[in-house]
Amino acid sequence: MRQIVIVGGGAGGLELATRLGDTLGKSRRAHVTLVDRARTHLWKPLLHEVAAGSINIHSDQLDYLAQARWHHFTFAPGELAGLDRSAKTVRVAAVIDDEGTEILPLRDLPYDSLVISIGSQCNDFGTPGVREHAFKLDNAWEANLFHRRLINACFKANYLADGRVLNLAIVGGGATGVELAAELHNTLRVLAAYGLSKFDPETQLRIRLVEAGPRILAGLPEYLAQATLDTLQKLKVEVLVNERVVSITATHVHTASGKEIPGDFAVWAAGIKCADVLTDLDGLESNKLNQLVVLPTLQTTRDPNIFALGDCSACEWKDARNVPPRAQSAHQMASHLVSTFKRQHAGKLPKPFHYRDFGSLVSLGSYESVGTLMGFATGGSIRVEGLIAKLFYISLYKLHLWALHGFWRMALDTLARMIRTQTAPKVKLH
Ligand SMILES: Cc1cc2nc3c(=O)[nH]c(=O)nc-3n(C[C@H](O)[C@H](O)[C@H](O)COP(=O)(O)OP(=O)(O)OC[C@H]3O[C@@H](n4cnc5c(N)ncnc54)[C@H](O)[C@@H]3O)c2cc1C
Repeated sequence: MRQIVIVGGGAGGLELATRLGDTLGKSRRAHVTLVDRARTHLWKPLLHEVAAGSINIHSDQLDYLAQARWHHFTFAPGELAGLDRSAKTVRVAAVIDDEGTEILPLRDLPYDSLVISIGSQCNDFGTPGVREHAFKLDNAWEANLFHRRLINACFKANYLADGRVLNLAIVGGGATGVELAAELHNTLRVLAAYGLSKFDPETQLRIRLVEAGPRILAGLPEYLAQATLDTLQKLKVEVLVNERVVSITATHVHTASGKEIPGDFAVWAAGIKCADVLTDLDGLESNKLNQLVVLPTLQTTRDPNIFALGDCSACEWKDARNVPPRAQSAHQMASHLVSTFKRQHAGKLPKPFHYRDFGSLVSLGSYESVGTLMGFATGGSIRVEGLIAKLFYISLYKLHLWALHGFWRMALDTLARMIRTQTAPKVKLH
């Protein structure tokens, strides 16, 4: 049987493993293996909600082993550590537990086709102090850690009852930064309502959003940025533009213009970069963001048996721009590779991938949602806001669940969540 190995089970990789398992794996036309350094999957666009406490990671995580069992693929835990293209093996690092005991040794997995889909992480551009003092939302663990520390700080402020102000500084005015600011504004008010009677978010919470460019949401249309800014200003989130952060300390965020922005909690939510392991993966071509450069077929430029998808791939799109690092790109690329592998099995050549931009949506928690949707009959874009925008925003995640579980399980899950929200606190309180 043909060995298809997928490294990285995120927005794109897990959908690919699931759909290949359900087709080629189930009919024993290929053996599909998914490698991931984590044991569970959480859709990355939910991370700011985990950080703010609007969702509980335990109810939204999916166990890779269970998904593998249900969808006819194999799960191999571990981190990508190297590649031997001539031997056609991918190296997976040893798995070590919390106490330093080796659980699984360094392994070389054989492949006929290899897909790299390990995503990206925040790009701190080497800014001093980020590593030591700022939180990042690169994975569920980090987002949950931020949430726990923030809740602890609120409990402390409530106990001391001295009116101390909690300063939150979010670096990066992209979608992640603005969505996090709005979510935090909401959830900390809800938290206070659950009995923190001596902590008043109106006077004791300051949220600042710091952006290096001239406006927030740089990649999105001007009117979306303006609508978002209006909402943030109504919420008294202070938005600072043209402020490039040059360093972060335990208490402040320092900018190139000389501003010292108070930041008991600093979150770095700017830029993306891929893991260093991709810069020298047995000679595969990578760019300055460490993404693997791919052909229109998503095959890497120097090896037709190795594919890259999602954030870690550099795939040319239009106007000298690459396909943007988004969940919808990873989803479309995964769907494309499902048909590529089916074609390959039938002895046919891979077809080029065409990215379709369906628009952009920004959800400001329970306050507002705005966005543009593209690709309608007119071929142009339409502006959506309010409930319609929120429904489209939610539907992105539902589509991901649909791809992973099928329609009926996705629908049942939605119903179960609706029931759960009636019986559980509105925010995660610990
Ligand atoms: C807070 C936040 C909000 C976002 N909101 C949106 C949104 O609203 N809409 C949108 O379209 N996009 C959004 N994005 C971007 C979107 O999440 C990514 O573009 C998308 O998840 C990329 O999918 P992927 O499959 O390439 O990688 P990921 O989903 O990041 O998955 C990568 C997988 O690889 C694994 N992995 C990483 N390194 C290794 C390694 N060395 N070895 C083995 N496994 C590894 C990880 O554990 C993970 O499972 C958001 C991102 C963030 C951080």
